[in-house]
Amino acid sequence: MKEDYYDILGVSKSASAAEIKKAYRKKAIAYHPDKNPGDAEAEKKFKQAAEAYEVLGDEQKRAQYDRFGHAAFEGNQGFGGGGMNMDDIFSQFGDIFGSAFGGGFGGFGGGQRRAKGTNLRVRVTLTLEEMVLGVEKKIKVKRKKQAPGVSYATCKTCGGSGQTMRITNTILGRMQSATTCSACNGAGQTLRHRPSGADAYGMISQEETVSIKIPAGVEDGMQLKVSGKGNEAPGQGLSGDLIVQISVKEHPHLKREGNNLHLDLYISISEAVLGTYTEIETVGGSVRIKLDAGIQSGKILRLKGKGVPSLSNYGTGDLLVHVNVWTPEQLTKEQKLFFEQNSAHDNFKPSPKSTHKSFFDKVKDMFS
Ligand SMILES: [Zn+2]
Repeated sequence: MKEDYYDILGVSKSASAAEIKKAYRKKAIAYHPDKNPGDAEAEKKFKQAAEAYEVLGDEQKRAQYDRFGHAAFEGNQGFGGGGMNMDDIFSQFGDIFGSAFGGGFGGFGGGQRRAKGTNLRVRVTLTLEEMVLGVEKKIKVKRKKQAPGVSYATCKTCGGSGQTMRITNTILGRMQSATTCSACNGAGQTLRHRPSGADAYGMISQEETVSIKIPAGVEDGMQLKVSGKGNEAPGQGLSGDLIVQISVKEHPHLKREGNNLHLDLYISISEAVLGTYTEIETVGGSVRIKLDAGIQSGKILRLKGKGVPSLSNYGTGDLLVHVNVWTPEQLTKEQKLFFEQNSAHDNFKPSPKSTHKSFFDKVKDMFS
């Protein structure tokens, strides 16, 4: 059982955004790995708190979580959205602690880690077709890059390790603790030559077009990670990642539910009585289907494999066509006479057989 995010941060369900931020800040400081070296339990709590804040600190994700609980994010597992790694957590620090931590040269928690550039975030809006078929998108991002001609030198204060040792006298005796080097902020390097136009870290901002392959079957709200396409780090550091947030435009006719698509089909009373062929709009083209004479309103036709492909390769969903028979709202004298003459016939009287499933049975079938 996954622990409740509100419990993890120790706040009530009605906590304000400021309270949540404050609670996370407290937990992050208490369980920070630099404060608890080698303590696996603290690291676990640190990661849990970061995961809880990733959701509760975001208005939209919090609303999803309030409605669906942890299930709201299950689809994201293994997709860069689920579990968080340390780099994600540290990059989250920028907005929590301001420039005191995360924003610095090489970032917080330097030490043995190679300094990493911060992550960039972009939102990509897809049509239903793009979501179903997959698409390659070219997106313009503004990345921080090392300026041409920049050079760095090993930090003299820490010798490149990014950490300095401090010895303090306590009642338990002399204690040695590692702290982030204040000269280089943990990056292990300092700027040697700063080209004109570069910032204090030798960086410039540059627009770049990044091509992103979006696999078929993604969902609204998912996040994709493009490794190494975030901001570059100064010196020998690694580039951050580009986090792509997926949002999906509503389709005028097709509605998605899990991996199935739903379509409302309206047919005339004569088509229902006599049977017909009709074109069904699906993703990637239309399909001609046959409607048998005597088809009932409310029938659901299942077009196998015409839904959304599963991201985890468990086949493709179906397209469920909901048949609605359109009853004429006005009739001519002759038409009225026709129905009056026929309404007394036995075959005009409703006689649902056991094979005619009720609406409730159909709904049950759809979810089983
Ligand atoms: Zn240093």
